[in-house]
Amino acid sequence: MHLTSLVGAVYLIAALLFILSLAGLSTQATARRGNLFGMAGMVLALAATVALALENSERPVLVTLLLIALVFIIGATAGIWRARSVEMTQMPEMIAILHSFVGLAAVLVGFNSYLTEPAETVHQVEVFLGVFIGAITFTGSVVAYLKLSARMSSAPLMLPRRNTLNLVALIASLGLLVWFVGQNALVPLLVMTVVALALGWHLVASIGGGDMPVVVSMLNSYSGWAAAAAGFMLGNDLLIVVGALVGSSGAILSYIMCKAMNRSFISVILGGFGADTGTPAADSGDHGEHREVLAEEVAGMLRAARTVVITPGYGMAVAKAQYPVADLVSRLRASGVDVRFGVHPVAGRLPGHMNVLLAEAKVPYDIVLELDEINDDLAQTDVVLVIGANDTVNPAALEDPGSPIAGMPVLEVWNAGQVVVFKRSMATGYAGVQNPLFFRENTAMLFGDAKDQVEKIVLALAADSVSGAPALSAR
Ligand code: NDP
Repeated sequence: MHLTSLVGAVYLIAALLFILSLAGLSTQATARRGNLFGMAGMVLALAATVALALENSERPVLVTLLLIALVFIIGATAGIWRARSVEMTQMPEMIAILHSFVGLAAVLVGFNSYLTEPAETVHQVEVFLGVFIGAITFTGSVVAYLKLSARMSSAPLMLPRRNTLNLVALIASLGLLVWFVGQNALVPLLVMTVVALALGWHLVASIGGGDMPVVVSMLNSYSGWAAAAAGFMLGNDLLIVVGALVGSSGAILSYIMCKAMNRSFISVILGGFGADTGTPAADSGDHGEHREVLAEEVAGMLRAARTVVITPGYGMAVAKAQYPVADLVSRLRASGVDVRFGVHPVAGRLPGHMNVLLAEAKVPYDIVLELDEINDDLAQTDVVLVIGANDTVNPAALEDPGSPIAGMPVLEVWNAGQVVVFKRSMATGYAGVQNPLFFRENTAMLFGDAKDQVEKIVLALAADSVSGAPALSAR
């Protein structure tokens, strides 16, 4: 069989494996299998692409092979090193920077394609669009990386007439496209690249902390379209299919995140939602006094409870508290307490962040419920443990129309009998919004690192079972 048709067949199998991978990743139970399908697809895709590159090589085959091996070694070394060293809390920023590589690759492929391929209108449009999407993805992802890693303020950049600026950039790019197609000149391509780089930077810099979940999924989608554009330029069908899969799944994820935050995609793009991050609450006096408790007292509350709901957030990830939390849950369940988790779609810093952490700590996934599934049950819950969550349990979203997060669905934990909030201080969450929950009568603050505090509670409960104290005496 001719190598090209063999490669085509392998690409088709790889594409099917990628689709099976996405299907697998849609539920926790099949996620592992999904990853394996994805890895198998990628091995096949790489092997076929290398074989094709060697067949079409204009240099001696050995030189091409060595060049490919060199790139593989550099990429694999950097990739393995980062994958092993990255903390779970740094995953969002790592994903953002990886998206920027896809964008940069599309820009480089575009310029290479312009310089080496004959000028045909269709090809010119491919090159122009590929570079345009790639450049926006590149700088947008770099800004997202800087914001997520707190190297840049998460406050929205509010340039005067910022929407007009974006519109001018788009219209200018259209004009440059006409010039580029007409004259096949390098200048319009270069000018458009600069405009698109600035546009990507400005688009993401204008978006406030509260909207970052949508930005992450939006850049995920852009990186897919950038890869698809590179696929068109390189004439690589698999890259087009994979790019389209990533692009459309990112778009679906953006839609889900927008729905979770009750925001329209357009209003997110236009920016401005959410102020600064992690600032100590300046207006805490307006809300009244908060009440503090100790871990031992919380152990007492849990002993007396029949139903407990845990709502985890970003702080649980930072503290790596998921392991003692899993321990606490299995202890409580063993003593007959009904324990469930309520996971907000934007909790943490990554779509699905909490689900990954809880699965990592081997929490049974049938007790991990989503916001819609648990919200109505909170009123009948004895104790809610809010572990490192803040914005996702903020009543201001529903009660204060002037709040920057007004309208965002939240976990209505204040309807429960008793709420315990685990955090280190009275600081605000990622959206920088004060949380009136902390000052409610049925809320108690448990200050300190979430992991330490949960471990103390577990110890207190374990001491009971050793001393033979009636663990569930209050019932
Ligand atoms: P928040 O970011 O609102 O709050 C986290 C809380 O955890 C903070 O108030 C902090 O308080 C506390 N915390 C931090 N470290 C510790 C620790 N070691 N021990 C105990 N507590 C700790 O978290 P949520 O999960 O409720 O909300 C997520 C926010 O992030 C939303 O605004 C969302 O829009 C945004 N976001 C989400 C993304 C996603 O895709 N899921 C992506 C980007 C942003 P203190 O400092 O006092 O300890």
